Amino acid sequence: MSFVETKGVVKRKCNNKENLCFTHINMITTNTHPQRFHLLSFWDLPDYMKDNEYILRYYRANWPLKHALFSLFRWHNETLNVWTHLIGFFLFLALTLANLMKPRVADLLDLFTRSLSSSAEKNVSHSIKDLVLGTTLLFDLKNQVPLTVELESTATVIARWPFFVFLGGSMFCLLSSSICHLFCCHSRDLNLFLWRIDYVGIVVMIITSFFPQIYYVFLCEPHWQIIYLAGITAMGLFTIATMLSPTLSTGKYRAFRAMLFCSMGLFGIVPAIHACFVNWGNPRRNITLGYECTMALSYLTGTLFYVTRIPERWKPGWFDLAGHSHQIFHALVVVGALSHYAATLQMLDWRDSHGCDMFL
Ligand SMILES: [Zn+2]
Repeated sequence: MSFVETKGVVKRKCNNKENLCFTHINMITTNTHPQRFHLLSFWDLPDYMKDNEYILRYYRANWPLKHALFSLFRWHNETLNVWTHLIGFFLFLALTLANLMKPRVADLLDLFTRSLSSSAEKNVSHSIKDLVLGTTLLFDLKNQVPLTVELESTATVIARWPFFVFLGGSMFCLLSSSICHLFCCHSRDLNLFLWRIDYVGIVVMIITSFFPQIYYVFLCEPHWQIIYLAGITAMGLFTIATMLSPTLSTGKYRAFRAMLFCSMGLFGIVPAIHACFVNWGNPRRNITLGYECTMALSYLTGTLFYVTRIPERWKPGWFDLAGHSHQIFHALVVVGALSHYAATLQMLDWRDSHGCDMFL
């Protein structure tokens, strides 16, 4: 069924059922058993919720917040949209907690406490490293600077905050998206507000994704860190201000918003190409690039599903509950974020072991 034909069917049905629609909505508001709200068809929806004409049934509309909250455990056409990003949120929360508690962090704490502890404990620790790094240490003795000290200072210098900024940004995006899909059925005002927050979440995720890569790739060239991080943050803040502005978030400025998103993406290409040159001799280049390409492919494919509304446009009504484009888009966003996480771990691990020593 073509696009025009589908629209025709929807319109016809809506015209035919005008009285029925009215009765149906009336029945909901005066229901003697308000615990169980009915799910509506596309042609029964208030205008502010008519977004995808290829999803025909199982809509919630004008539900109280409490009912919207409990619809988390009920089947409707937003159930999987909520859960795909809610599971993603819990996944990233678990990764954040695991990274906060992982041995590398414990090592840093250990370095800190060890510097305050007895010299006897230090000697044991150093003697183990001397055993491993004996030859190199001999070279360094000429300069009176033992390599062990250099390694320790490197380990303490590698900051974790850019990594956690990315994890925080991803969690914010995934959680705000879940909340948006869960409560957007409440009222027109809340619907408009939540979709704005959802856009902001996407921008936050894009900006924060840049942080660890730019920080760790250009760790030894702080001027590039500052230029790129300040640039992407300024662009992100401007985009967020635009998304939150009631005027600029109207349909009239859709092209302008699209241009802002594209600008952010295009801006990212500059440090990405620069990073490739900087890391050309890095033995982990291919694996990091592989993860980043998986991320780019996931986001691009997800956006393609989002824009084309495939597969529901091919068979309207067949994918109302499961398998429609927005669910595929959500799943691919989580895959993309996980790939970026894996790439970041590679970069972080390499910096932890090498500091500013290039490509050893
Ligand atoms: Zn969504």
